[in-house]
Amino acid sequence: MSAKSASKLSANSRLPFLLDTDVLCLAPGFTLANGHLIDSALGASHRVHGAGVYILRALEHQCTYAALMDLANRSHVSPLECHKLLSFLVSMGALRRHRPFTLQLAALQKRCLHAVVGARYASLAYRFPATAGWVAIASLKACAPLSVAILITSILVAGMGLYTPAAVASASTAGLILFIASIVVHEAAHMWRVRAYSAACSVLQSALRIAVLHPKLTARRERAIALAGPVAGIGFCGVVAGMAGVFGLSVGIGIAALLGLFHAVSLLPWTADGKIVYTTGRILRQSRP
Ligand SMILES: [Zn+2]
Repeated sequence: MSAKSASKLSANSRLPFLLDTDVLCLAPGFTLANGHLIDSALGASHRVHGAGVYILRALEHQCTYAALMDLANRSHVSPLECHKLLSFLVSMGALRRHRPFTLQLAALQKRCLHAVVGARYASLAYRFPATAGWVAIASLKACAPLSVAILITSILVAGMGLYTPAAVASASTAGLILFIASIVVHEAAHMWRVRAYSAACSVLQSALRIAVLHPKLTARRERAIALAGPVAGIGFCGVVAGMAGVFGLSVGIGIAALLGLFHAVSLLPWTADGKIVYTTGRILRQSRP
């Protein structure tokens, strides 16, 4: 959960797991023009160097991973350089991967084998339009693994017989719904703050992470955007705790307090939002006369 300017995007060293037969292409909203990768949602352009243009041109028209690596080899682009370019595309949600359903199981088996020997892969990132509805969809995607974890935990807790299955089911369902709702409020607050500055905005979701992307703004505005999410999340949990208190639901108060704490933690300096809050705060203090 974070807000970040597009200039902070960078290639990590890992790629998603790719089969030779996977079809790769640029995500909607990304085009190649005059040696630049254009990000139309953010109005940003990224200069592409050397033979990277050939790679992106191939991705504009779709090609398999094997064909792409073959093109890179013929263009004298090393596999490492090609992977760095693909990693950069993944980091900003510019790469789409199409894999036939019939190959999904084979890919999972290979991934498990690779995991045994310590190979780790990045997750694909997806871009969504910056609207409340798409923020909700991105939040649901990001929370899907958590939903499965809560379901398994609930079954185990109910199986231990400490609480009735109905009590476990209602508490876990309420907790999950409140958690997802608080994430939507958190991200929407980032987004609305960016919108308030009339800046372009886009939502990025990768595995459990969601980020609201925007062009680089002044330190004061970046700070306000980073603060908006956690503050809104804490405020939402406070309202829920208050309502649970009115109806005498102590479990609801406990769940809301835990979720509020979760959003408060995102203001700590080593989290994505907290890092921006503290970094921009230092810049603003230093710029004071
Ligand atoms: Zn955030």
